[in-house]
Amino acid sequence: MLIGCPTEIKPQEFRVGLRPDAAREAILRGHKVLVQTGAGLGAGYTDEDYVEAGAEIAPDARTVFDRADMIVKVKEPQAPERAMLRQGQILFTYLHLAPDPDQTRDLLDSGVTSIAYETVTDARGGLPLLAPMSEVAGRLAPQAGSWALQKANGGEGVLLGGVPGVRPANVVIIGGGVVGTAAARVAVGMGANVTIMDRSIPRLSYLDDVFLGQLTTQFATAAATAELLPTADMVIGAVLVPGAAAPKLVTREQLSIMKPGAVLVDVAIDQGGCFETSRPTTHQDPIYEVDGIVHYCVANMPGAVPRTSTQALGNATMPFLLALADKGWQQAIRDDAHLRAGLSTHEGKLTSAPVGAALGIDS
Ligand code: NAD
Repeated sequence: MLIGCPTEIKPQEFRVGLRPDAAREAILRGHKVLVQTGAGLGAGYTDEDYVEAGAEIAPDARTVFDRADMIVKVKEPQAPERAMLRQGQILFTYLHLAPDPDQTRDLLDSGVTSIAYETVTDARGGLPLLAPMSEVAGRLAPQAGSWALQKANGGEGVLLGGVPGVRPANVVIIGGGVVGTAAARVAVGMGANVTIMDRSIPRLSYLDDVFLGQLTTQFATAAATAELLPTADMVIGAVLVPGAAAPKLVTREQLSIMKPGAVLVDVAIDQGGCFETSRPTTHQDPIYEVDGIVHYCVANMPGAVPRTSTQALGNATMPFLLALADKGWQQAIRDDAHLRAGLSTHEGKLTSAPVGAALGIDS
């Protein structure tokens, strides 16, 4: 099979869908790899790295889309990319079709067989191709929040870990899933006084076990949030209700009970945000202030660290990519129900029931 990897064209996207070492693995199994020139540069990989791995370099995206049997990417295809997809071709990437009728229509019109990273499942009910980006965003959250806490950025002017004789900052994490746990690990490591909230008792038990008293677990209720807000220096929003917009857990009114210069980091902003005053921001302009409270709401946090993110994503996608290349998509999804959960469109038909329900299209 010829695996093609184009350069990402979504603004500020520096990750790449295929690392040179994954290209090498595929080539060792008898496949061919075609990479658009410069595709890996943002993630630290040169054309020479790909050539050394045995790949061929294409001068432009058109060549990759025309020749490849399978396109591997990071972000959902943009309109000019969608115009180059065709029936009989496999597209393996993040799609996020439910809120995107234009993209869904274009994929159906193209006839492409598309498999979405974000809906591939695992045996524990998790989303293994989404989890690595949640790990990255979670670990970044206290880092971004501690920067926002600095006086020059509008924050309180508080150091997360304190110093000997000065108390550390109070960090409240709402949602103790992949993002929340990763955020807790870094916040604890930075010496903060951490409270993590969740509605799942098994999750709170797990967190209590793994952190061995280094943080406080709290069952999440509106009353518990209201009690913690006046003393919080940083609140990290990390909730997810699958298939739904994030619930609003801190109201605008509640900002007035917080310390001036406290920081809200809304990682759940990609699901609409879990603070009433959140709106999506970018890496160029990541923070803004409402009623004296600094908000950090970057919707694609992993984009800040494209090298780490590309490596983490590539580790997770590689086994699926190789299965698709080795067996062909039909056999690969027959053998693996978790990969089958990623199948989104095929020859003009929508194959994802949740996307169909969201967009009112038969699936
Ligand atoms: P997850 O499913 O692993 O964890 C979510 C947790 O939230 C679960 O433990 C759940 O019990 C808990 N929860 C749900 N409702 C709650 C409530 N009302 N109060 C307290 N806890 C509640 O999900 P995740 O992978 O950790 O992702 C969390 C959020 O981060 C998602 O919205 C995801 O889309 C987002 N995310 C954003 C970025 C970014 O760049 N901004 C990157 C990755 C993930």
